[in-house]
Amino acid sequence: MQRLSPSLCGLSGHSAASPRGNDFGVRISWLRVAAALVATSAACLSGQSLSWQSAADQAAQIAPDARIVVLDVGAGRVIASRRLGEAARTLAAPGSTLKPLVLYGLLKSGRWDAESRVACDRKLIVAGRRLACSHPAAPPFNAREALTWSCNSYFAQVARSLKPGELGELLRPTGLLGLTGLTTQEAAAEFREPRMTEDEQFVLLGVAGVGVTPLGLAVAYRWLAMEMAAHPDSVATRTVSAGLRDSASFGMAAGAGLGGVDVAGKTGTAEGDASTQTHGWFVGLAPAERPKIVMVIYLPAGRGADASRVAGVLLAHGPLESR
Ligand SMILES: [Zn+2]
Repeated sequence: MQRLSPSLCGLSGHSAASPRGNDFGVRISWLRVAAALVATSAACLSGQSLSWQSAADQAAQIAPDARIVVLDVGAGRVIASRRLGEAARTLAAPGSTLKPLVLYGLLKSGRWDAESRVACDRKLIVAGRRLACSHPAAPPFNAREALTWSCNSYFAQVARSLKPGELGELLRPTGLLGLTGLTTQEAAAEFREPRMTEDEQFVLLGVAGVGVTPLGLAVAYRWLAMEMAAHPDSVATRTVSAGLRDSASFGMAAGAGLGGVDVAGKTGTAEGDASTQTHGWFVGLAPAERPKIVMVIYLPAGRGADASRVAGVLLAHGPLESR
């Protein structure tokens, strides 16, 4: 437990009432997020102790169904959670959260050029399935920008470059496809090695052919954090790190930045197998410069932007210093 002075509390220079990006129809309203962030200020001013578990409890107040996992990057253990049992057993399509993991591996092995640009008309259709982007109209993206704006067209192009079996080879080292060993009674990821180009695209975009648990995704992003720490000057690290920071600053995951902490992260939105209801993900690393924690927020109903706002509340109530 750590007692913090008001100067260490979040909210510096940010307004919860000024959403950026173009994600509409949110389920985590800005009013609730703003109220939760105001509560942070009150807690800070009263000198209450801040811990990750109390932060997770606060975040759950605006999203009671959320599965929340906070991992210590150094020790690799769970330091806070909400609904941990469900976080270990809930298998869901990961949406766009796989993009940074696959991109990192491809850049590291020289199989993709970070400066490759792909134009996007925001109307991607793969095998008759609409996978439209929700980012604003923009010139062709490079890899960093494609992460920031979670461009499906860009990563569909990346998927076309994959060799047979390569997707599994890229994902297995992250730990995402195995058991984490962090709790009992956990589910292993579902993954079918794609054979057709369209299937490669579905898996890389996280919409079909793959199911992961929130706990598994937390372990995979811990792997990413450790990889990037070990190779800080590589093109792979610079590109992915910058893309994730931009995403949580002004891109699709900007809600996470409202917590006042320098955070890097990625949202994900996907539908269930048997319904058109979406679920939402946010996976983040904080502080962005030298991550100490990995956080995963999974909302059984909602979108990635909603999950990023829950992360913003989590960070605002947590013990990390604000910007
Ligand atoms: Zn796009």
